Amino acid sequence: MQVVQEKTKLKKDDIVQVLSGREKGKKGKVLSLYPQENRILVEKLNMYKRHMKGDGKTRQAGIIEREGKMHISNVALFCDKCGRGVRVKRKKLEDGKRVRVCTKCDEVMDKV
Ligand SMILES: [Zn+2]
Repeated sequence: MQVVQEKTKLKKDDIVQVLSGREKGKKGKVLSLYPQENRILVEKLNMYKRHMKGDGKTRQAGIIEREGKMHISNVALFCDKCGRGVRVKRKKLEDGKRVRVCTKCDEVMDKV
């Protein structure tokens, strides 16, 4: 798990921005990560419609919208200060904590 986080630098609940494709520029919260596939699920992004069959009891028939997985390279961590998705680097604080830092403005991206 540690290795994976080093690789993607993204975590659940991060705010990311889409870098390419039809939803370029949109922002969303990371719902889940699929490191093996290099894919990511972002809230309200890359939605697709899915037809559901009702079972007559708990489930209603109809069309539901769900998030589709996106390739991890299509999103970047959003920096409030820069106002866009940015690359991040790792930095070790004086107390030994490791945080992610914006490569553009040096803003610390993790709450510590
Ligand atoms: Zn920044």
